[in-house]
Amino acid sequence: MAAAAGDGGSVPPKTPIAEAPPASRPHVTRNAMPWERCVAGVQLALKDPKVVFLREQIEKAGCTVWPTFFRAAICTSSGNYASGVGVQVCCNHMRRQDEITQVIIHELVHVYDDCVVKNIDWKNCAHQACSEIRANHLSGNCHYKRELMKGFLKIKGHEPECVKRRALLSVKNNPHCSEKAAEAAVEKVWDMCYNDPRPFDKAL
Ligand SMILES: [Zn+2]
Repeated sequence: MAAAAGDGGSVPPKTPIAEAPPASRPHVTRNAMPWERCVAGVQLALKDPKVVFLREQIEKAGCTVWPTFFRAAICTSSGNYASGVGVQVCCNHMRRQDEITQVIIHELVHVYDDCVVKNIDWKNCAHQACSEIRANHLSGNCHYKRELMKGFLKIKGHEPECVKRRALLSVKNNPHCSEKAAEAAVEKVWDMCYNDPRPFDKAL
């Protein structure tokens, strides 16, 4: 089991898994919500049924999500997770409540994988690729309406395409993975990880 989320922070922080920076500007997204609203939004997101379920499953698997595990922050992506440190929501890029909830669900899939996947190594491109595919798929990051708003919708098959695109962006962001290695890793683990909905019964 990974030391990660279950150790209450006693293990030295590892490199966070940062999601790819938004395509627009690196530091502030236009129409980002005020800081106080985002801080409150992080707390509100913890009541989301998917968030509650994931936290329960993480605890059941023997890892701890402690009270300060989720934090509002100013950062360069939408969010990140570091083993033994917790989840940051990058409030400078959050425009709506549902974006905050999505980030937390996405990062909790990483927390879950960190907890249950034996010997997970976040420096390993294939390991990260698998978790990114699952996080993007299971969080609903690529659901119809959200993609439509971003102008990425292409009719049929957009969901897997979107999951692949987003997973690739995050793996490319890993300093241990070259662009080629990231692409190869995503392709290699795609079928296995896209079809692995744990701890859900299926992708919702
Ligand atoms: Zn991710």
